[in-house]
Order: sequence, then C-alpha cells, then structure tokens
Amino acid sequence: MKVDVHPTTQYTLECVLCQKENDETKTSTYCTFCADVLSVRYHKTSPAMQVPLKAYQPDPLKHHLSTLTQLPRLSKTYDIDLWAKLEFEHPSGCFKDRGSAIEVQKALELGRDAICLASTGNMAASVAMYASYYNLPCFVFVPEQTSEAKLAQATIYNATILRVQGDFAKCEELCKEFALSGNVYLAGDYVFREEGQKDFSYELLAQGVTDFDAIAIPVGCGTNFAAIYKGYAEMKAAGLVDRIPQLLAIQPEASSPVVEGIFKREKVVKELVQTIATSVAVANPFDFHKVLHAIDETDGKAYTVTENDILGSLREMAVTEGHFTEPACALPLAAMKDHSHEWQGKKVLLVLTGSGLKDTRVVAKHSLTPPVLEPTIEAIQEYVGSGFVEMQKRAWGKARSVVLADVALSDTRDKVFNSYVEAIQQRGKTLQKHEIEALQSI
Ligand SMILES: [Zn+2]
Repeated sequence: MKVDVHPTTQYTLECVLCQKENDETKTSTYCTFCADVLSVRYHKTSPAMQVPLKAYQPDPLKHHLSTLTQLPRLSKTYDIDLWAKLEFEHPSGCFKDRGSAIEVQKALELGRDAICLASTGNMAASVAMYASYYNLPCFVFVPEQTSEAKLAQATIYNATILRVQGDFAKCEELCKEFALSGNVYLAGDYVFREEGQKDFSYELLAQGVTDFDAIAIPVGCGTNFAAIYKGYAEMKAAGLVDRIPQLLAIQPEASSPVVEGIFKREKVVKELVQTIATSVAVANPFDFHKVLHAIDETDGKAYTVTENDILGSLREMAVTEGHFTEPACALPLAAMKDHSHEWQGKKVLLVLTGSGLKDTRVVAKHSLTPPVLEPTIEAIQEYVGSGFVEMQKRAWGKARSVVLADVALSDTRDKVFNSYVEAIQQRGKTLQKHEIEALQSI
C-alpha cells in the first residue's frame, strides 16, 4: 500500500488571482505581480501523484501511511458513519510532515544554502526535522514569549532559534527579509507545501476508501484544506475518482476569519485571534481564496464551534475512541455533534492533524492537580471515595451552570464550588482539606 509519485518539470507556477506565470527561482511564496498566492498547474494529468521536482526521494522518515480508521462508538452515538485519518502518526507527530518533506527537497533542488520559517509550533518542528536529516541549516523565527516546550522539537533537530521582540507578524516580516538577504529558502504555508499536503487525498486512494460524503477539516491558514481539495481535483481529472466529497471548513468561534470570509465571500483579516486550539489561531488566513474555491466546487460548508465544544470533543475522542489529539483536532467532531441532524447516515471523514502530546497545557489547565496524599491506605481510600474526582470529570469543558443544573447548594457550598470550578477553568489547582470536605457533602 503506497502512493505512486511522479516527479515532473512539466508545470507552471500560476497566480490564483491574476493568473500570471511566476518564476520559481524568484518566488515560491507570493505572486511577483499582484502579491496574491500561487498554485502549481501541471501540464498533463497523471495516474500518479505529480510533484514539482526534478527528482523525488520518497519521504525517508515516514515508514507507513497514516492510519485510516472507522470510529465505531462515535458513529453509533451520533448516527453518522464517522471515520478518522490519524495524521498525528507522522514522524514529527503532525500532518505538516507531508509538506515539509517536499519543501526541503525543493530548497535543495533550488540550491539554497539554508531554510527559514516563522512558526511557534508544529511547522517549526516538522521543517527542522527534515532540514536536519538533509543537512540543510534551518532558522526558526519565534515571538519572545514562545515557551521552550513548544520549541523542544526544533531545538533537538538543531535548528537555530531566533527569539524576536514583538509578535508573530513581526517574526514573519523579519523572516521574509532574512530569506531575501541571502540564498535562503522561505518555508511556510506556501505553494510547494500544498504539493506535499495533497498527498493526503492520494493516500485515501491507496487505502481504498475515497467515497466519503464529506471531509471535515480544522482550518487555520487554509493550506491543508486547499491541498486536500487539490489532491481530489487532480485524481478526478485523471479519472481516478468519480467525485469529490463535500469539504467542511471548521474553525473555533473565537478565531474564525475563514468562516466569516466564506459567508461574506471576501477575505477577512483579524487583528488578533485567541483560542485553545492554538494551531489554527491564524488572524490572516493566507490561502483564503483557495478555500473559498474548494467550498464552491464541492458544495462545501463552513462551521464554527465554541471553546467549550472543543474541550468536550477533545475528551470524548480520547475516552471513546482512544485518540488523544491536540485541541484543533476536536473541531471536526464538535462540528458533527452540532450539526448531527444534517449528517445522519452520511459517511464523514474527520482529519486528526496532530498529537495531544504537542499541547499538554490545555489538559493541565482544565484539570485538577492531584493533592499529595499521606502515604497510608486510609488516605488513599478516602481520596478515591471523596467524590470530587468525579466532579472534576463532570466539570470538564462545561459551564458551571451546566454542571450544577440539578444540584441545590447552600450559599457557603455554592461559594466553594464556584471557586473550585473557576480554578479548574483557569488553571490546575490542588484542593485544600476544607474544600474536599465541602465537596464531599454536595
Ligand atoms: Zn498575481
């Protein structure tokens, strides 16, 4: 079971807006005429997946296709035939590896001395991994507050971390200048990354299941969404599939410029976006026009989900099907739950983009730090039987009003519970003895 890949030079680098041809030795990011985004147009269709490289080396770090699996329990609960593609099985723990493998090979083909990018997380880890494998120096631009934990992978893969005063936009700007000032390839959610990410759709073909009614995709920049569409569109043009599933763009309500833009039919750029699903927190969605095109061509849909829905679905996926993912991967399930009546009886694929181990803070922040117990069996049993462990589970991802819907509380206990739930929502907390006693009696 493998994807057949055909490297070719028979393509044009075309702007999606002015449609002018661009020269890849001058740009692999924005159109040099109108500054919109680029797309690779192959001159011929092919039964194999075409990549815009003179020579292609199969990903040396990836040893199997990402698993495609049914979600039997969730399917039963929501009466939807739910499937998942486990993109977190990629070597760096994230779907970005599909694109990074191609970007790094392109940088080498173009004879670049180094590769650079602005990223605080998944992409930095992924590009650094391939760059180090191919001995290409890698420069990662990050805002000053970025935690070391987020950069652990980029650091171990020997990237040069450039911590910059200011926000992410400042890092992107400097990174672009840095690339132009030397013989450095600028990596990111650009055109050649899309050519790697489209491999997702070809893998479905290799795995023998392409007949989904819909594919639900978490959206930040929109690059992965556009790439999944492009893969299907190419396969359809080559006669490999009959139709393209409806593509569903899902964003957090708190960070939804793409969804808003789809309804307005024009690109929306936000000042600032904030969500627990940090890997899709993108204020300026680079590939918006490609997303809109894919939505139009597939009769797709755009949904938003709340932060509480994200938390709820994140845990539901882990508890019922065993997949612990990063918060962004909870978006597709949350959207299916919100719109279950619309999708009943349909076959829907959820894209699970990254590992939960990439962002454990979200779990710590919404859970209790267990208290340190006296080393006696009595203390252990008292804790296990105290009831507040259950309460914590009930409180996960829910508003206090929901948790307490059918509990009548005295004023004192109401106060204790209030501060307890608040602490869980804000930060992990260790309970005091009087709080345990109060909670036991609720
Ligand atoms: Zn243009």
